Order: sequence, then C-alpha cells, then structure tokens
Amino acid sequence: MTEKTLIVDIKKNALDDGPGIRTLIFFKGCPLSCVWCQNPEAKSPFMEIYFDKELCGECGKCLEVCDQIAIKFDYKYRIDRSICNLCGSCIDLCPNQALKFVGKKYTTEELMTIILKDKVFYDNSGGGLTLSGGESLYHIDFVHNLLKELKKEEIHVCIETCGFYNKNQFDDLILPYVDLIYFDLKLLDPNLHAHYCKVSNERIFENFEMLIKKNYIEVLPRIPLIPDITDTSENLRKLARYLKSLQIKKIGFLPYNPLWLSKPEKISIKPLYNHSEWISNKKKEQINLFFSDFDYHDF
Ligand code: SF4
Ligand code: SF4
Repeated sequence: MTEKTLIVDIKKNALDDGPGIRTLIFFKGCPLSCVWCQNPEAKSPFMEIYFDKELCGECGKCLEVCDQIAIKFDYKYRIDRSICNLCGSCIDLCPNQALKFVGKKYTTEELMTIILKDKVFYDNSGGGLTLSGGESLYHIDFVHNLLKELKKEEIHVCIETCGFYNKNQFDDLILPYVDLIYFDLKLLDPNLHAHYCKVSNERIFENFEMLIKKNYIEVLPRIPLIPDITDTSENLRKLARYLKSLQIKKIGFLPYNPLWLSKPEKISIKPLYNHSEWISNKKKEQINLFFSDFDYHDF
C-alpha cells in the first residue's frame, strides 16, 4: 500500500519562504507545542474538524445528521471532540462551509503531481519547494521518499524546521537531498524553552551547531519575535552573542502575527497565550541595535 501523510495546506506561488517562486507544503504534526504557535491547526498529527462560527447560519442540519450526538448548540466549541468520530457527515451537509476537515492525506505521487505543475516557474525564478508545518521532519520517512523524487527532478528544496529531529536520521535521510535549511531558534534558556515549548532546547541547539559545522549547506537561523517570551532583551542579547560566536552573519526574524488568535477556538483549543498587538517600533529599534552586526531583511 502506498504510504500517505497528513497535509494541512499546500500554497502555490509563495514568495517569502525561500528564493524565487515556490510551492509550500504544510505538514500536520509537530514535536513541540509552543504556546504562541501561529498554526495551531498544524500541531496535532491527527485529522481534526474545524468549526467557524462566523460562517454558521445556525440551520441545524449538522445537528440532525450527527449519529454521535457530538454537536451541541449550547456547547462553547459546538463539537464535542471526545465523541466525534470524524465521519464527515456534518461537513458534507453544511450549506455554509462552516465545518471542514483540517488535514488531507496525500501520497508522494499525488504531491509530486501538484509540485511538478509549477516546475517552469521554479526554473525561471530560481524557486522550488519549501517543506513547512507543523514540522515536516515529524514525518521523516515520508519526507525522505518525497525528497528522493524531488532530487530526480532537480527541484530546489528548502526545509523550515524547529530543529527537534534525530540527528542520525536527519544526516542519512534528509541532508543529502536539501539545498537550504531555515532553522528556528526560540529561547536560549533551556528552562524557559521547556516551559513555553514543552521540550527542552538542548537537542535543538546541538543539531543547529552540527549543521553549522558541516559548512556545506546553507542554513539560515530564524528567530520568532514573540512579545514578552522570545523578544525580551535578555533572550535577544544572548541569541545575538551566541550566533556571533558561531561566526554567523545572516539571520531571519519571524515577527509575531496576532491574527492567529482567531484560530484556536475553531479547533476547540483554549489559547495559552493571548497577545493582540503587532510588534512596536520601539522593539524594532532595540532588535536593530542588538543585531547590528548581522545581515537580515527588514521585518
Ligand atoms: S464529523 Fe460526524 S461524528 Fe463528528 S460532529 Fe460531524 S457528524 Fe458528528
Ligand atoms: S450545518 Fe453548518 S450552517 Fe448549519 S448549523 Fe451546522 S455548522 Fe451551522
């Protein structure tokens, strides 16, 4: 049987996640669980159902069709996920598309068909494919098979990673097939990292340093700027010092986007972090000061 894996989304003609025109594939599932995760629908490796109350016309059709009696109008999140069996009947019946599955299973062949449709754009723009998520390396065997096919077609590959992978598997199954790695570094303090991301950071920083030492693959460290968590003066100053000690010249920033706050409720999650403002100019000035020795794009 051909192996399939869960994909949250496929975005074409992307211009921000690597050079040129790219296709972005968002895998479902991540070994971390950051409280600020901007893609909470990609955290769980399992299929989920998504309910958008803004689109719901309260017609009651979903209620009638649900054999599990999992839909309740007086329940905050509308669907009781502890008894929903993901049969999809309510999704098929909803006239407003207020219900949908998060995640669709694809084989390598199905993904290659989609990716290859835009090969001419990759070739003409210096673009290619970017694997994102969630964490694509959570599906390392599947990704290995996909990468082998991409190599045959000479398609440029960028991987965006949280860095929490098994090093030996990564070196054997991934590294020979990748052109560029966007490596996210969040918090230098292991206790704070464990507190906010649910895993300690030792393995992540070890993996990062191993990659930098290899010196034959392009690695761009990226720092998510999360208000009062990663963007504190202490963390940014320490990260700048650490990156400088590794002779790193080029970095990236991932500014906080408060629009994610509308997502958790749709998959019945109570947000553990609730900051509703964009990055301030004062914070930008501070960051520019700490990272004045580095090359990075405006953010
Ligand atoms: S997916 Fe099926 S079980 Fe779940 S809420 Fe909809 S109809 Fe009910
Ligand atoms: S079927 Fe759709 S529009 Fe009707 S009540 Fe259910 S979610 Fe709302």
